[in-house]
Amino acid sequence: MMEKGNLSINSENIFPIIKKWLYSDTDIFLRELVSNGCDAISKLKKLKAMGEANVGDDEEYRVTVKLDEEAKTIQVIDNGIGMTADEIKEYITQIAFSGASDFIAKYQDQFENGNDIIGHFGLGFYSAFMVADKVEIDSKSYQTDAPAAKWICEGGVEYEIGEGDKVDRGTVITLHISEESKEFLNGWKLKEILAKYCYFMPVEIYFEEEKKDKDDKTSEAEEKPVNDTNPLWLKKPSECTDEEYKAFYHKVFSDFNDPLFWIHLNMDYPFRLKGILYFPKLKHELESIEGQVKLYNNQVFIADNLKEVIPEFLLLLKGTIDCPDLPLNVSRSFLQNDGYVTKMSKYITKKVADKLNSLFKKDRAEYEKFWEDISPFIKYGAMREHEFYEKIKDILLFKTTDGKYETLTEYTDNNKAKAENKVFYVNDVQQQAQYIKMFADEGMEAVVLDTRLDIPYVSFLEAYSGGVQFARIDSAVSDMLKSEDENTVDKDALESLFKSVLGKDDLKISVEGLKDESVSAMIELSEQSRRMQEMSIMYGMDNTSFPADETLVLNSNNNVVKLLLDIKDSKKDEADMICKHIYDLAVMSHKPLPMEAMTEFIARSNKIMELLAEK
Ligand code: ADP
Repeated sequence: MMEKGNLSINSENIFPIIKKWLYSDTDIFLRELVSNGCDAISKLKKLKAMGEANVGDDEEYRVTVKLDEEAKTIQVIDNGIGMTADEIKEYITQIAFSGASDFIAKYQDQFENGNDIIGHFGLGFYSAFMVADKVEIDSKSYQTDAPAAKWICEGGVEYEIGEGDKVDRGTVITLHISEESKEFLNGWKLKEILAKYCYFMPVEIYFEEEKKDKDDKTSEAEEKPVNDTNPLWLKKPSECTDEEYKAFYHKVFSDFNDPLFWIHLNMDYPFRLKGILYFPKLKHELESIEGQVKLYNNQVFIADNLKEVIPEFLLLLKGTIDCPDLPLNVSRSFLQNDGYVTKMSKYITKKVADKLNSLFKKDRAEYEKFWEDISPFIKYGAMREHEFYEKIKDILLFKTTDGKYETLTEYTDNNKAKAENKVFYVNDVQQQAQYIKMFADEGMEAVVLDTRLDIPYVSFLEAYSGGVQFARIDSAVSDMLKSEDENTVDKDALESLFKSVLGKDDLKISVEGLKDESVSAMIELSEQSRRMQEMSIMYGMDNTSFPADETLVLNSNNNVVKLLLDIKDSKKDEADMICKHIYDLAVMSHKPLPMEAMTEFIARSNKIMELLAEK
């Protein structure tokens, strides 16, 4: 005899709501049902351990997902504790149902403001109605005297419950897949969902498919479980080998490369958190880094790269994090305000900083080897998370123009004699080669900061690293490379000669005796105005709004420059050519010549060779 009942809720009917709002993440129905099956088995194991359930020692616990395309059903079968009819009434029709409707009532506003919900708040059993228009529960409780129970619901507020015919202990959930969701009646699709959401669940999960072969129907059960019930993060760090860490990385992230190193997170108090974070090797230098941090709740996959839980800069890494205590019955905004989440992200940040510090201290050479790969992560992290910066500020490395790696303190100490608290940098080693050489002749080095991230990074360091100023190598020529000797040339005459020959009346010219006599002139560009220019370009402004503040520095120690004033009247043509050439050479060692200037430069070079040959 089947009894009729009514689902008691205030809201009219949550099923259309479930279907509508959760549409974007329909896949999770399988995760919810399979994890209910795993939970039912875990509960039974606990009861057995307490001597309260009569189960054999050789019991093979498993959850089976069974597809029958012809019957249009998906079944989730477990041999866990099972439920009596009263329990179904209590757990499914009262608790689970009111849980789901409470949730929807509470977060209705957010649902309506677009799809801004994390589709994984443990809606539980009722998510089945996202894909099914009829759901049946067949269950037999572990309590041997309780009769089997059967529950049927067709997605309205009405359900039927009565005695069922299930003989063995456990629960079968049968979903009659609706017409709109028939895409789920596909073995590949189901296996894909299982691989994504159930891969590390704690009970073996098997996939089975009813296949119709001519007239016979055969059931094809896969021999191996679809999951790995013992993810590496659950093992004690001291018991894991490097090989295991690497193999786990290859498998989970489908990356053939070995990771550089990893951090095994293992915390019990004040909250539980386990996981492994890997520092991936960048495939090529300028690759934009895109990590993947998979979040689990008791081995149940929740989501990739969940910004609300994992500090944003850590999303550049790869890893798995399992937080059994994560409050999931909540919306995004709730997660953000939750103290637990803040504590968790602090803990992870600290662990990462600790690991980097210990690497630096224990094996500086190894740390330097990793630097190019990990520096984008570290720079980004330092800028995003001040606490992280505070912990790693002393182990930030700078690659110098002579190929060494130095900390900020090491660099400023080494170059103290020339410039207190100043860091010279290059952002293009090739283009700035001439400056680098002149610096090297002076016994000075510059650091290489040549990625896009370095522009904000430089400003960041200036603001936070106690008064250190950064200056690009071409901004300090006259200050840094001047010789002490008295200058004897007629500066004004040189200046007006260049201005008139170049036809650039507003060109800034300074005459300095540079130590390197072979260099005729250089361009000096003020650091401040260059940064303004870079910014205006970054913000898409017209780049003429901040004209470059360039100065042509003529080297009064250079022979050609010295001779110029002597020949400017007697050999006017040659003097003109030389002025132009000096200017072009200075520009070239600073930035590429514009097209017309380049053509002229080549023609002039040929002319000069001709003159030399004729002499
Ligand atoms: P949750 O799993 O988050 O508690 P659900 O809506 O998925 O919420 O399930 C409600 C309750 O129904 C569960 O807590 C459990 O007691 C019971 N239940 C669901 N599925 C099963 C099952 N396969 N075996 C035994 N009990 C189950």
